[in-house]
Amino acid sequence: MAVNDRLGRPLRDLRISITDRCNFRCVYCMPREVFGPDYQFLRRDELLTYEEIARVARVLVGLGVEKIRITGGEPLVRRDLDQLVRALRGIEGLRDLTLTTNGSLLRAQARRLAEAGLQRVTVSLDSLDDAVFRAMNDAGVGVDTVLDGIAAAREAGLWPIKVNAVVKRGMNDHTVVDLARYFRGTGIIVRFIEFMDVGATNGWRLDHVVTGREIIERIGREFPLESAEANYRGEVAQRWRYVDGAGEIGVITSISQPFCGDCTRLRLSPEGELYTCLFGAKGHDLRAVLRGGASDAELAEFVAGVWRARDDRYSELRTEATAGLPKVEMSHIGG
Ligand code: SAM
Ligand code: SF4
Ligand code: SF4
Repeated sequence: MAVNDRLGRPLRDLRISITDRCNFRCVYCMPREVFGPDYQFLRRDELLTYEEIARVARVLVGLGVEKIRITGGEPLVRRDLDQLVRALRGIEGLRDLTLTTNGSLLRAQARRLAEAGLQRVTVSLDSLDDAVFRAMNDAGVGVDTVLDGIAAAREAGLWPIKVNAVVKRGMNDHTVVDLARYFRGTGIIVRFIEFMDVGATNGWRLDHVVTGREIIERIGREFPLESAEANYRGEVAQRWRYVDGAGEIGVITSISQPFCGDCTRLRLSPEGELYTCLFGAKGHDLRAVLRGGASDAELAEFVAGVWRARDDRYSELRTEATAGLPKVEMSHIGG
């Protein structure tokens, strides 16, 4: 059964955030002043179990989901992640299973995840300048650790690898060309992400945003670029190819060129709330339905109802004023 929302968008992608915890404190995501020692993270019994997550995923594949991304918080801090991967991998009809991680724990886990059936990974790395990167993750993790995690993923056959870099003006925008240069010709695609007003704690301001256009211009001055066709409808990143054939990069322009019209993503929070938009204030309580003894058909009906009622297009309506509205935190819902 396929379902469309009120703007005619089908349900295609599921992002599953499996924890609200993280070993980093990225300034644009989990500022230490807010996510300090007293911050109340979810309790273990509040989290969906891997069995519950896999069941939801199976039902959603039945509703048209083709791609699943595991995220967090930092997904690699939750125990026995390979067990979840194995359960998701077994779902018939699922075409793509991937994971977004900060890379710091990949060396220890890449092989196990690949053996469990993970296909590929996206690793976040905001700068190759060690001082800049440490200032951004605010957790004392150096660039080398993440590069080693990327190498481990590659060795384990998790491929293709993408690298995500959030660009914040005055913080790391002077290092974008270095990132592009480093990964040129490696087959690894760097995607530069405009700093977004997700959540309500990261002090977002429009003048912190470096637009995708500006990033492309800066890199293109050193390495000429041409725009490339999207791989498929609803692809989040705009693709740009090096004219000399050394590969491609992407920009994710949620602020300057929103792409809500093609947004086919549903998000599941660690405690089982469904969010129909990254900028949602409130989720739909799927856990209550799950733990209330619903059958698979009843679960499917609940989710289909949520999707049919969906009319979100936050990024198209964004103003400086909407940035201050209450919204779910990025570290909770996972990007
Ligand atoms: N911890 C993992 C990681 O960092 O890759 C997965 C979760 S993280 C929330 C998912 C992605 O969201 C990361 O690539 C991160 O850089 C990005 N992100 C977090 N806060 C952001 C913001 N304010 N604007 C744009 N991207 C952001
Ligand atoms: Fe953690 Fe990822 Fe957020 Fe950084 S972006 S604080 S690594 S969840
Ligand atoms: Fe999708 Fe919401 Fe982002 Fe628009 S703002 S692309 S609807 S998640």
